[in-house]
Amino acid sequence: MRTTEQAALCITYTFNCTDEIYCKETDRNSFLHYQSFLPPSLKRSLPYSQLLRVRRICDNDVAFERQAGELCQRFRDRGYTDTLVGYYLLQVRNIQRVDLLTHWTRQNDFSNNPVTLVSTYGHISNNLKSIVHRHWHILRSDPSIGNVFQEPPRSCYKRAPSLRDKLVRSHFPVPIQSSFPFNITQGNFKCLNCAACNFMITEKMFTHPKTGSKYKVKGRIACLSTFVVYLLTCPCGLLYVGKTKRQLKTRIFEHKCAIRRNDEKSSVARHFQSAGHDANMLKFMGLEMVSRSPRGGDRENRLLQREAWYIFNLNTCIPNGMNEWEELSLSCFL
Ligand SMILES: [Zn+2]
Ligand SMILES: [Zn+2]
Repeated sequence: MRTTEQAALCITYTFNCTDEIYCKETDRNSFLHYQSFLPPSLKRSLPYSQLLRVRRICDNDVAFERQAGELCQRFRDRGYTDTLVGYYLLQVRNIQRVDLLTHWTRQNDFSNNPVTLVSTYGHISNNLKSIVHRHWHILRSDPSIGNVFQEPPRSCYKRAPSLRDKLVRSHFPVPIQSSFPFNITQGNFKCLNCAACNFMITEKMFTHPKTGSKYKVKGRIACLSTFVVYLLTCPCGLLYVGKTKRQLKTRIFEHKCAIRRNDEKSSVARHFQSAGHDANMLKFMGLEMVSRSPRGGDRENRLLQREAWYIFNLNTCIPNGMNEWEELSLSCFL
């Protein structure tokens, strides 16, 4: 009588398991088109490498023939010729699957050649390669560096810019990541070549003297910057927010001239006159530089919007500041 263990050992299971390539229903024919602007050697190698993959996966010839046929049709649909596809199909048919499943070490033909010629792929790539090879003997015969350049270089290509690269622009700028001092992209900076420099507040941040709120300066603002929303401060702590599409220093000089001639039309001049401030006590800093949008739009109107935003949030209208109430116009938002 058999024990339970012996009975279990006598049971044989029959699996009907085959190895084939599975494709999702959403799979699309995304092979590189034969007309793609890529090195011909790369495009020619694709059918061969994909057929090898099918050969390696399919565990019987019937499955291989069926799936290789489907694969070849997909390559034909992408512009590959019958001759090219048929040639590689014939080659792969003659390879045994078991040979593809054994461990294979790539033979690196360039292991002894440290020199690589990297260039962007283009119409002249082949010409460049042949010119370099033709004149390589000059480097090889050089007594000091000749031993490094014994073998001609291997050619490697970077992808050439596509139509997408040339036509599509991101709305978001890539942040500049460079070393000091060029990584300072925000704040106020003197041009060191004008009289307005002496009155500039070179800060990256503005702190409201009454509320303590902090406002980060947006943009790299200098005396020569244009399309800037700026801030004027007087010795008693009142603020004035203005905007200019001309150079910032030009607008600052206009304010100082208005103070010196006691211009009644200027709210800043009126305050300086009534408080007994001197024009040299006027300090300024840029708050934001309105850059040109890559998608267009009215830059001047955005400048007006930003000015109104700062006037409202910094509360700079008379009597809390030096701005006229008329300057807080909301029509730019309509
Ligand atoms: Zn300056
Ligand atoms: Zn004052």
